[in-house]
Amino acid sequence: MISRRKTDAVLKRLGKLYQEMDAAYTNAASALGLSCVDCENNCCTSYFQHHTHIEWLYLFRGLEALPEETRARYIERAKEYVEAVGESLSRGEVPTVMCPLNDDGRCAVYDHRLMICRLHGVPNVILSRNGLQHFQGCFKAKKLFESNPEAPVMDRTAMYRALAGLEMELLGKRKTPPPRIDLTLAQMLVMGPPSLK
Ligand code: SF4
Repeated sequence: MISRRKTDAVLKRLGKLYQEMDAAYTNAASALGLSCVDCENNCCTSYFQHHTHIEWLYLFRGLEALPEETRARYIERAKEYVEAVGESLSRGEVPTVMCPLNDDGRCAVYDHRLMICRLHGVPNVILSRNGLQHFQGCFKAKKLFESNPEAPVMDRTAMYRALAGLEMELLGKRKTPPPRIDLTLAQMLVMGPPSLK
């Protein structure tokens, strides 16, 4: 486990990486003419899972800045979310439950929201072990891209690698790697901050 000072330094760098993600999203969305204003879908009902301790910890730094009562309300909502998602999955459906941190369309932890909240929507590519994977983005982006196929596509590769590097720094050297994380944001809220021991 690394010291509190080192943890803070790594989290600060995640904050900078998030700013780069926001800028990359803005560039790709404006090249396409994509806007979320008046969209009939709300991406905050998308079923996403998250995979790093560092994002989980950064999210909690944002939550900890909120008044205790507010935080408790979000945790109650998160429990309801987990239950509703479990029911959808047991029926074989893709869950479409509103994120517990969405307050009438506004994100309660906007500066601390997770990577996928920042990058979802625009067409993008990722280079991984399995080769270059292409993603079309949201339904609006897909339509816009069909009429403008030369529009620049966001490359997530460097941002994913930077995030993986920060995750490794946060976890420090250890004999056995921690188990892989595959959690919804609501599950993170219910579980509390990540254990880094
Ligand atoms: S964390 Fe914020 S941006 Fe992300 S899904 Fe929840 S409300 Fe939406």
